Amino acid sequence: MSALDTAPSSAATTPEDRVNELVDRLLAENDPKTTSVVDFLGAQFDLGLAWVHFPESNGGLGLSPKLQKVVTERLVQAHAPQPYGRNPIGYGMGAPTVVTRGTEAQRKRYLRPLFTGEEVWCQLFSEPGAGSDVAGLATRAIRDGDEWIVNGQKVWTTLAHLARWGMLIARTDPETVKHKGMTYFVVDMHAPGVEVKPLYQITGEAEFNEVFFTDVRIPDSERLGDIGEGWHVSLTTLMNERVSIGGQIQPRGGGFIGEAVKIWKDKAHTDPALKDDLMKLWVRAEVLRLTNIRAQQMRSVGTPGPEGSIGKAAAADFNKDVSAFCVTLLGAEGMLKPDGYPMERPKHTMLWNNAQQAFLRMRANSIEGGTTEIMKNILGERVLGLPGDVRVDKELPWSKVPRS
Ligand SMILES: Cc1cc2nc3c(=O)[nH]c(=O)nc-3n(C[C@H](O)[C@H](O)[C@H](O)COP(=O)(O)OP(=O)(O)OC[C@H]3O[C@@H](n4cnc5c(N)ncnc54)[C@H](O)[C@@H]3O)c2cc1C
Repeated sequence: MSALDTAPSSAATTPEDRVNELVDRLLAENDPKTTSVVDFLGAQFDLGLAWVHFPESNGGLGLSPKLQKVVTERLVQAHAPQPYGRNPIGYGMGAPTVVTRGTEAQRKRYLRPLFTGEEVWCQLFSEPGAGSDVAGLATRAIRDGDEWIVNGQKVWTTLAHLARWGMLIARTDPETVKHKGMTYFVVDMHAPGVEVKPLYQITGEAEFNEVFFTDVRIPDSERLGDIGEGWHVSLTTLMNERVSIGGQIQPRGGGFIGEAVKIWKDKAHTDPALKDDLMKLWVRAEVLRLTNIRAQQMRSVGTPGPEGSIGKAAAADFNKDVSAFCVTLLGAEGMLKPDGYPMERPKHTMLWNNAQQAFLRMRANSIEGGTTEIMKNILGERVLGLPGDVRVDKELPWSKVPRS
């Protein structure tokens, strides 16, 4: 095979054989012990094993997304580097948006360094006056020749302090209804006029930030989708966000429920009432795991359906409950965060070093990526077909909608 030849050999009779053959080749040519993380992930992308369901030459093979599990399992077994933690927002949300809505030139420009983690991405949707109702946002983008000039403020922007690129929705036509007057851009976070300020969380860490835009110039070539189509493009990001946050598939008994079992054993607990609680949580962890496996298998390239909200809402509740249970198991020790409260800007999001930190961090799970109330609205309307939420400003031009 040539350097970029990912065609199946005659021995590969099924798509799964083809994937396995390419994983064999990746590992044979790039020993995870001696290859740098960036080189390894770059080789994975070039072989089409980044997202197997993406098109060939965009880090994929045009195969079923089910087969990504084969790649991940084999690479975890081989102790190969994993892409998600290096660039969670880019990997989980930026990539599916670019591949679905971007031009071929944009896919070529953004996807590879996104996957290797050389270029971190952030999501610039929420504003002080627009969170759940993100379509009410006020950041303005005004056309100036081949460029757009952006002014406004975003908030809660996770990892903006590390990001090279930001997914930005801005108002380009205030005189039309709110969902139609927005446009989606990829903004260079190093451009003049972009200012990123930390916001510290209950854990002491500032995973997220405020971002201010003052006369920031974005080339029109970095617009994603048509002018005024920002809402539709952002739905691709939002639907993938839910799956990215709530759809993580842990091994059976792994993840946070594994931590709870470990603490149970370490502390030699025997109380039958606590054991009952532990078993109920174990069952919930397993139901969530199986639900997410089913959702992943039904997924195709692009925008996942509203059922992504099931995993998102269930994972938020579960994470909050299981981390609170771990703190209970720890007894008095649970009241003290062993690593203190260092005020720092981390290189990661949603990770935890100990149960106490997880307990604090997981309070946010039912807010970030859309609140649990909003997930329930989506499930009610789009899955169960219940009557819609009251939306009094739906038909008004954005400029006429009262706002604080
Ligand atoms: C840890 C963390 C990380 C985040 N990272 C990012 C990021 O990277 N990028 C980004 O753009 N945003 C990010 N966010 C912002 C997040 O998306 C918003 O906080 C969220 O969408 C809620 O918006 P809000 O905070 O403005 O609350 P509001 O929308 O003001 O909601 C307040 C309360 O009212 C309820 N509510 C609102 N509308 C309805 C309704 N129609 N029906 C029922 N109840 C309703 C909500 O559920 C909530 O309880 C992050 C948030 C957190 C906590």
